[in-house]
Amino acid sequence: MTTTEESLLLPVPDEDGAPFWEYAARGELRVQACTACGRLRFPPRPCCPHCQSFDSQWRLTSGRGRIWSYVQPHPPLLPAYAAQAPYNVILVELADAPHIRLAGNLVASADAPLNSVDPARLRIGARVQAVFTETGGVAVPRWILEKP
Ligand SMILES: [Zn+2]
Repeated sequence: MTTTEESLLLPVPDEDGAPFWEYAARGELRVQACTACGRLRFPPRPCCPHCQSFDSQWRLTSGRGRIWSYVQPHPPLLPAYAAQAPYNVILVELADAPHIRLAGNLVASADAPLNSVDPARLRIGARVQAVFTETGGVAVPRWILEKP
């Protein structure tokens, strides 16, 4: 792990989101599912927005999805991010729940830097797979192309 990598912002889990990060540490991408109506939801929250039930479980996903949109951040950036620019931030539509979109980075492999994918390769609709990058004691989901 490089100094640059350690300076990236880390998630700050709250009570509702803590299980997401605990499963991520095991290499599992899970989303909350309402045990009353069965609908999946993200980001984590205590109450189902569809049926108002407070009962939920964490359902394992395939970790597969498609790039729904993307950006290339430009300066001004925090120093750790400026050091890796140009990099990408993608929104991934989950294959198991297309209404759920997660923000992340497309990388060449789990331990590759944020700028490891040529921005010219970014395509909306490209199939991606979640990988987990250990950084600062947290397993952060990132994404790799299914067909590199
Ligand atoms: Zn519900």
